[in-house]
Amino acid sequence: MSGLAPGPSDAASELKGLPPLRVEGRLRRLRDRLVAAGVDAAAIVEPANVRWLTGFTGSNGTVVVLGCGEALLVTDSRYAEQAPAQLAGAGCGGEVEVVVARRAAEAVAGRLEGATRLGLEDSVAWSEQIRWSEAVEVETVPLTGIVESLRAVKDSAELARIEAAAGIADTALASVVPMLRPGITESHLQQALDGAIRSAGAPGPAYDTIVASGPNAALPHATPTGRRLESGDLVIIDIGALVDGYRSDMTRTFVLGDPSDRAAAMLEAVERSQAAGAAAVAPGVEAGEIDKACRAVLDDAGMGDAFVHGTGHGVGLDIHELPRVASGSAATLEPGNVLTVEPGVYFPGFGGVRVEDLLVVTDSGCRPLTLHPKTSLVPLPA
Ligand code: ZN
Ligand code: ZN
Repeated sequence: MSGLAPGPSDAASELKGLPPLRVEGRLRRLRDRLVAAGVDAAAIVEPANVRWLTGFTGSNGTVVVLGCGEALLVTDSRYAEQAPAQLAGAGCGGEVEVVVARRAAEAVAGRLEGATRLGLEDSVAWSEQIRWSEAVEVETVPLTGIVESLRAVKDSAELARIEAAAGIADTALASVVPMLRPGITESHLQQALDGAIRSAGAPGPAYDTIVASGPNAALPHATPTGRRLESGDLVIIDIGALVDGYRSDMTRTFVLGDPSDRAAAMLEAVERSQAAGAAAVAPGVEAGEIDKACRAVLDDAGMGDAFVHGTGHGVGLDIHELPRVASGSAATLEPGNVLTVEPGVYFPGFGGVRVEDLLVVTDSGCRPLTLHPKTSLVPLPA
């Protein structure tokens, strides 16, 4: 709890030289989408959506967008000072009225007169939906992906933060690679990586850092354990950093000593698959095509069945956001999209390989934000 939390401009100074985050124009773009969807008011509660629209970072905020062009941020008394300061810092102080109240539905019921269809996000709990339905006489309709699809295209200030986060993860990983040797535990490496992320200037990791070695590397979402690394192990490290609320995401695979023929074949196939997927990333391309490109390489290598997850996802304020990069995804890539391409193969009892880059879609193709070498053979100590 905090009465005087930092405003966005203070938070931005975590790392020097980042341009300020500004939200101007976002509510207007949301309104255009709402009109197109036949929705004349909306209540937005997802924290990342609230933050993206207004700059407000508190844990309890509802942005109410009214058809007449007004917008409100309803929050509780803990944020009575922070909310107006953050809205002003983000450039929407004159556009969004702060209402301090315990319950948004009751607080704004009188302002929704004339509205007929109120949009609520998919994640809104049943109990909350019922509360809205009881407070206001409007039909509630789902706002599936409307704010999220706007968030999928990053502006230059957002990109600067994601790129800074990716750079921090690169630096952190490089500083911990010399610790990769038989005998060290996965959890020790995780702690070292998280410490290195903080030393490099981020407040922390973007998600729970994964270190998975030997047979544990066969689990796509492994949690680090007390297992000690052994010579010949495949070691998957999945690491991202957090800068001003924005995240990065990268996976690298290492081998301790000389790889077995099987491990070498896996490394080679996944690197080629990842390169094929990245080569397909360009504006105008359907995200499903990237998945197809990655899968074709692994199918040819006889490992298609071992690629058991989607190819990638957008990254921003959330670690998993739009665009979805998976089989059948019809999302068309646009300049400013930030997404991962992360094929992997997993063989229970043996191990796995995953290579994940974070890419930004440019006017002509894409640019990688994660630069650490994709796979590495770590020499064993003499
Ligand atoms: Zn990852
Ligand atoms: Zn990822």
